[in-house]
Amino acid sequence: MSELLANFVCNQWQSGNGQASALFDPVLGTELVRVDATGLDLAASFAYARNQGGEALRVLNYKERAALLGVAVKVLQANRDKYYEISAANSGTVKNDTAVDVDGAIYTLSTYAKLGDGLGERQFLVDGEMSRLAKDPLFQSQHILTPNRGLALLINAFNFPAWGLWEKAAPALLSGVPIIVKPATATAWLTHQMIKDIVDAGIFPAGAVSIICGSSAGLMDQLEPFDVVSFTGSAETAQKIRAHPSVTKKSVRVNIEADSVNSALLLPSESASSEALELLCKEVVREMTVKSGQKCTAIRRIFIPQSLYAVAAQAISARLKKITIGNPRNETVSMGALVNREQFNTVKSGVMYLKEQTEVLYETGTDELIDADPGIACCVGPTLLGTRSANQSDASTRVHEMEVFGPVATLIPYRNNDLNHALKLIRLGQGSLVVSIFGTDHNELAQVVPELTDSHGRVHVVSPDIAALNTGHGNVMPQSLHGGPGRAGGGEELGGLRALNFYHRRAAVQASTSVLSQLTKLGQLS
Ligand code: NAP
Repeated sequence: MSELLANFVCNQWQSGNGQASALFDPVLGTELVRVDATGLDLAASFAYARNQGGEALRVLNYKERAALLGVAVKVLQANRDKYYEISAANSGTVKNDTAVDVDGAIYTLSTYAKLGDGLGERQFLVDGEMSRLAKDPLFQSQHILTPNRGLALLINAFNFPAWGLWEKAAPALLSGVPIIVKPATATAWLTHQMIKDIVDAGIFPAGAVSIICGSSAGLMDQLEPFDVVSFTGSAETAQKIRAHPSVTKKSVRVNIEADSVNSALLLPSESASSEALELLCKEVVREMTVKSGQKCTAIRRIFIPQSLYAVAAQAISARLKKITIGNPRNETVSMGALVNREQFNTVKSGVMYLKEQTEVLYETGTDELIDADPGIACCVGPTLLGTRSANQSDASTRVHEMEVFGPVATLIPYRNNDLNHALKLIRLGQGSLVVSIFGTDHNELAQVVPELTDSHGRVHVVSPDIAALNTGHGNVMPQSLHGGPGRAGGGEELGGLRALNFYHRRAAVQASTSVLSQLTKLGQLS
């Protein structure tokens, strides 16, 4: 039987005593490790984190906590090779895809270590300026942000076991808020290993970091009014979290990152020979195939003028043809597997569902796998679908609603020279994490941006002058906001120091200007 991973709560490693769930290699089908949270004293675990962990973290200032993040970065860097092996085994990812998760995690953590160092030795943050409350300027109002006196429950999706952990943990710990991590069961191993390495290194005070692997049952029940939940996952689970009594009755603060049908848009003024079109096709293929399309930010809908439909279909298909699929340990493979059989089946049925309203522009068969048995490996080749005509783009409602979480995208033509038609179609996504706009004319690009910022958390603009510089549509940079309105969950993460807001409480202080001056000296941002 495979190793049973222990949970770390109340500053101790504790194994579950129930029916463990096994984690598998999605390419070889072998069992890797098991997880189980049965029998843990959740009430004691949450109280320990909230009280011991919270108090110990809050005694420190931002600079001291940032220094701890810096030490954690070094520990993760030292164990990087181990994380790559776990990722290949449990997530079926090739090295480039593992880098997005593992190196993305380390970069995000190190960014917060640097940002936190800049906050210095203060214990709270000043928000905005003083405002006069009376004619006499002697009495004013000043807002300040104080770290939450609760814990952060971090619930993550299966597709980013490393980055998903640290993009939440870094701002929480920097804010002085203890964390309880609940990784998605399918890929919990990598998250567990990272937390184990951090715990073994003795970096954070007792209670600051806990991990519970296995069933989520009962976790939400433990939350108290000053705790927060940061959730990433499906819209369906998000709905359960929002409806939980801890949220509805105790006002536990929730951040939701859910699914999203992200877009790429080519401006109407572009031609078949334009560099912007070429850049779009290249990025679409990257987005479809990185992590086998299991990225919340991946491009699912590609909007191009009707006149360029055939050209774009051909250019994207030609690039997709070069993708090699199979065992990520084989150096000739460029795209690995989906995470498990369940996802494999979900992607297959999702493609069938979309096909009823689209035509197939490119598709590969699973018999083309390298070094992998199609009967066992959860590998799926890329599929490019298309809505064929601008009229059909309006009628094909499913492509605007359905997120197929795999290497699948749909080419959607809009009426020639009709940008408003494209914008209307993009908005049918009901709010997404990110949209990329491809074009040459800077003025035209700038004019489109505010048309899309209301419905997207991030707008990525690609023009030929920054072709080599841009960080990519799907890469989430810690400097930029991550999250999206509407169906994307309505959450906000990252965005530099903005991420700290979620882990702080804002309060207005009304006092003598002299008192406020003393106060702001203590918490002023330099
Ligand atoms: P999921 O099934 O919703 O699971 C997400 C997490 O919630 C897992 O840790 C899961 O634990 C836990 N969970 C399940 N039921 C719960 C409950 N009743 N209470 C509390 N926690 C519960 O999602 P997934 O399949 O792992 O992830 C895929 C989805 O995530 C996709 O739709 C993708 O778009 C989205 N995603 C979004 C972002 C973003 O930033 N917006 C990023 C990545 C992924 P178990 O695994 O143990 O069930």
